[in-house]
Amino acid sequence: MSQLPQTSRSDSTRPELIDSFGRTVRDLRISVTDRCNFRCTYCMPEEGLQWLPRADVLTYEEIVRVARICVERFGVDGIRLTGGEPTVRAHLPVLIEKLASLVVPPGADSPRAGARIDLALSTNGATLALVAHDLKRAGLSRVNISLDTLNRERFKHMTKRDELNSVLEGIAAARDMGFSPVKINAVVQRGVNDDEIVALATFGREHDVEVRFIEFMPLDAQGGWLTNAVVGQDEIVSTIQAVFPLEQLPSRGAAPADRWRYLDGRGTVGVIPTVTKPFCGDCDRVRLTADGQFRTCLFATDEFDVRALLRGGATDDAIEALLRRAVGEKWAGHNIGQIAFLRPRRSMSQIGG
Ligand code: SAM
Ligand code: SF4
Repeated sequence: MSQLPQTSRSDSTRPELIDSFGRTVRDLRISVTDRCNFRCTYCMPEEGLQWLPRADVLTYEEIVRVARICVERFGVDGIRLTGGEPTVRAHLPVLIEKLASLVVPPGADSPRAGARIDLALSTNGATLALVAHDLKRAGLSRVNISLDTLNRERFKHMTKRDELNSVLEGIAAARDMGFSPVKINAVVQRGVNDDEIVALATFGREHDVEVRFIEFMPLDAQGGWLTNAVVGQDEIVSTIQAVFPLEQLPSRGAAPADRWRYLDGRGTVGVIPTVTKPFCGDCDRVRLTADGQFRTCLFATDEFDVRALLRGGATDDAIEALLRRAVGEKWAGHNIGQIAFLRPRRSMSQIGG
């Protein structure tokens, strides 16, 4: 875990949300549902995961209210919709249209000050070919699509669904629709799909999309994660490098991926090294779960109940105060791989990856 210098607590007179380690919150991840049409083995069991009762899930009006407070009061300039699988929630373009119209205040300390937020979506891509047009028209800027294998049988094994072709069509549709950039997320697991690192990198080069390899994290609902199932960044990069020479790009800033460019000019590739090279020191993210719990880290063990305020008649000022308190208590970073690591009570699809 990276050690951060402790600075003074965030000053409530400043518009930005700054935590006690001096990190400014810029990015809000919103889970719109905990449900999913896939059952990726590294995320959820084939059967038995309890969905949230529908009444517990925030309405679109409630989500937009929290998002508006974050954008207008704190200068948050990027929102990513995730889940579960966000495209399984009905009328998603309605939410996208409302969020896409949010404008970062002109005085905010952001390159997007005075402009609309950057609105992105993480999806498994299975229905993207059907909905990409509506999402684009509603104002979505970018999409990340999950693809862990190019082998149909393995895809079936890994997701418990025979949908590889639909996902490939979804990727093509996202490109045709002009989403830019289109990124592919690939979780690498030892002995499962680590023999496809070069094939997936090749796919990215040939289809002009950035593949981002993700280290397997201890957030599977089954609790089956083991250190030796993780394929680390160094191994992923050297595997690609042996076939396609690479050069690392300068600092990633607050983004989770380290990035490399192919020396032959055919694009870039990234790795999200959550386990082997944690990037907590640069983290600018906070999260809102589908049931309205505010989290300051994917691995946080505490949640802050925004839904209770939303449904209890609270003012925007009261919601702002809760979010500031949560961020004021944000920890320096997670302890994956160390004795002190405590798994969060909820798993990836329940938090919103
Ligand atoms: N359903 C969408 C999808 O699959 O892209 C969005 C939600 S999913 C939880 C977000 C991302 O988390 C996906 O890229 C998925 O591969 C990744 N993910 C899920 N479980 C993971 C785990 N245990 N370790 C690392 N990444 C994981
Ligand atoms: Fe669903 Fe995404 Fe989890 Fe796969 S990773 S089961 S697609 S939420």
